[in-house]
Formats: sequence, structure tokens, C-alpha cells
Amino acid sequence: MVKNTLGEMEEIKVKKIDSIYPAFLNEKAVHLKQGIIKNLLKIKNTDYHSADYDNKLDLFSGLVKSCKRCKLSRECKIPIPPDIVYQPKAMFVGRNPGKIDDIVGVPFSQRGNSGKIFSKYLDVLGLSREEVILSNVAYCRTKTNRPPEMEHMQVCSLWKYWEFRLFKTPPFIFVLGNDALKLFMGWGYPSLLAIHGDIYHTFLAGKKEVYIIPVNHPSFILRNREWGKDTVKILRFVKQELME
Ligand code: SF4
Repeated sequence: MVKNTLGEMEEIKVKKIDSIYPAFLNEKAVHLKQGIIKNLLKIKNTDYHSADYDNKLDLFSGLVKSCKRCKLSRECKIPIPPDIVYQPKAMFVGRNPGKIDDIVGVPFSQRGNSGKIFSKYLDVLGLSREEVILSNVAYCRTKTNRPPEMEHMQVCSLWKYWEFRLFKTPPFIFVLGNDALKLFMGWGYPSLLAIHGDIYHTFLAGKKEVYIIPVNHPSFILRNREWGKDTVKILRFVKQELME
């Protein structure tokens, strides 16, 4: 257990795990299930010069926006690709875009109430939107804001595979809510509230050293304000103990 300088949150633990292999990073399984996307393969090895990076980003975003791989494409205005930056300090992965995100066309839009709470997360961490990657497990909104079905999240994880293959992975990955937690840790993993306060220090697919940090989704905090305090404590812990 890591000594906590904040006093109250004794349950915050940094757990070392040698390596985690999220299913979406399993190239063989993804290709067997989904087929290879030729355009993305073409840009896979592009250098990380910023111009090339922008080209990759444009191509990737364009392909996502025209995606019709599952029926959610008929429920949203348009699939919303992740907001990816060149030098990310952290990544946030939520479930899927909300109503306002769908209207505005960006994930975690500041115009929505959840987006406003999310901005507070960033304030605690001392990060701006220009320094982080904003992404979702599924890129399309559901009409009624119901959770996407497992099958659709799994289909959409093809894009997650390319997100990690084409762009830089930051050292801090905040998984917001149960679906994002399970995307990384496995679909049978305990719920976020059961492991609240656990942080995983690990190597993603045995390669990239990362902290996987489960925290409640801002929309959950919107409906359950009493959990906000603990979420802020976890974010402060990350800022003070791991980032600095
Ligand atoms: S949810 Fe993902 S896989 Fe399904 S249509 Fe939208 S972008 Fe494509």
C-alpha cells in the first residue's frame, strides 16, 4: 500500500501488475474478427513528425466518422473520433458520447453538464484539454443515452486498437466508469465501485509503462454527487504522488 499524504483516503492503493493485455490490443483476434483496414495499415508506420501525425490523425478521424460497423451509427448524428493530441500527458476513456457531445461533435464537450464536471477533473490534475487524449469505448451516441450493448463496444474496440497503434500512449490512462475499466481489465472484471481507489501500475501489452486509473465517470458524479469527493481525492493523489 502506498502511503497517502492526504490523510483520509487510506484505501487508495497502487497495485503493481507485470503486464496487462487488453483484448483490443490483440492484433490477431482483431484482424480475424474485423478484417484488415488497408488505409490504416498504410499509415501505420508513418514517422512521428508532426505533419505526418496530423495526416494520420485526419485519415483516422475520417475513417471513424464514416464508420457503419454497428447499428449505433444509425442512432447518432455522426461517430465522434477521439480527440488526440501530439504530446499527450494523459488519456481519458469514457463510455460513449452524450447528447451534447453528439450535437457539438467532440467527446466530453464542455457545453454539457458532465463535460463541466470533467473540466473540474482536469483542474485538479492541472491539465488542459490540449494536453490530453479524450476517447470513449464506443464512438457513437445511443439515442436514449442507454449504455451501448457489449457487442457494439467490442466491435468498436477495433478503433481502439488503431488508436493505440497509430498514436502516442501517455503514461496516465484514466478509465472513467465500468465500461472503460472492463475494456482494459477484461469484461468479467469487478465493478468500479468494488475496486474504487485501486490504481494499476503496469505495462500495456508488455511494452508501454502506464498507470491505469479507474475513476467514476463525470455523468455518474452528476447523478451521485456524494461520490465526487472520493473522485477528487483519487485525482489529487495521482497529481501529487504520481505525476510530480
Ligand atoms: S459505435 Fe463504433 S463501431 Fe459502431 S458505428 Fe459507431 S464508430 Fe462504428
